[in-house]
Amino acid sequence: MYLQIERKSVFTSDHALRLEWVPDWIAIVGSGYIGLEFSDVYTALGSEVDAALIATGRAPFTEGLGLENINVATQRGFVPVNEHMQVIDMNGKLVPHLYCIGDANGKMMLAHAASAQGISVVEQVCGKDIMLNHLSIPAACFTHPEISFVGLTEPQAREKAEKEGFKISVAKTSFKANTKALAENEGEGLAKMIYRPDTGEILGVHILGLHAADLIHEASNAIAMGTRIQVICMLELMYSISICWNMSPKSYWEPIEQVHFNSGYLYI
Ligand SMILES: Cc1cc2nc3c(=O)[nH]c(=O)nc-3n(C[C@H](O)[C@H](O)[C@H](O)COP(=O)(O)OP(=O)(O)OC[C@H]3O[C@@H](n4cnc5c(N)ncnc54)[C@H](O)[C@@H]3O)c2cc1C
Repeated sequence: MYLQIERKSVFTSDHALRLEWVPDWIAIVGSGYIGLEFSDVYTALGSEVDAALIATGRAPFTEGLGLENINVATQRGFVPVNEHMQVIDMNGKLVPHLYCIGDANGKMMLAHAASAQGISVVEQVCGKDIMLNHLSIPAACFTHPEISFVGLTEPQAREKAEKEGFKISVAKTSFKANTKALAENEGEGLAKMIYRPDTGEILGVHILGLHAADLIHEASNAIAMGTRIQVICMLELMYSISICWNMSPKSYWEPIEQVHFNSGYLYI
């Protein structure tokens, strides 16, 4: 059975942004960040469940661009590109002077990623050899509580570690140990960091809780700059940020393998 999207009782996230009424009841199909954010918004507006909002994922709109004329085949609609956003043809060769940025290449379907990709292409066209590190681009889900992450997930990091022959460590902490979070009655959050104990390289950070979408930029900057956890441990950060990693300088001298989150701080 197919649902007819007639924009009244069944609508998509496009229509939901322009909805002129608040449904008393709403069913949201799809649990990606768009579905979660709309569920948060409609709950806040007082909706329960009735009309159906379809948020099962977005498809790229790349038909009709004439890509077949230059021997480029899309993959599930996405335009294949390399790390420089240069378009790759069916023979695996680069199409000269052709770049594809944003949702259409499917690398990271987020507004700031599209913008960063665009800037990186302009820089390249102007002669700079710039390559964007997608692993340093953060993502957030603006729900209550907020969710954010940057870099690899734990399974991705484990897979990479196995392939490349290194070990990973995982440090976790709870917002319960952060007095600012407790003062705001928001002690239910969590933060997790995945890193290489041999080099101190940060592979991924995931936060769930108050201001998660703001806090993640600490991690994002660290990954972008290649900052090792030995260096970050020397930073003194305020309570609000320390939930991510305010590392204790006093224990800087301990072996890096002993890194662990503790009491809202990441001790080394
Ligand atoms: C409901 C919703 C919530 C979102 N929330 C977030 C969020 O919180 N944070 C975040 O980072 N991202 C969010 N996104 C994703 C974000 O909107 C996209 O990643 C971003 O807009 C991608 O930018 P883009 O330039 O690649 O594509 P678009 O913004 O879609 O722009 C493409 C443009 O090209 C035009 N176009 C298409 N085909 C043609 C053609 N043949 N000729 C000429 N013009 C054409 C389109 O009309 C459009 O204006 C959200 C998306 C949705 C749908």
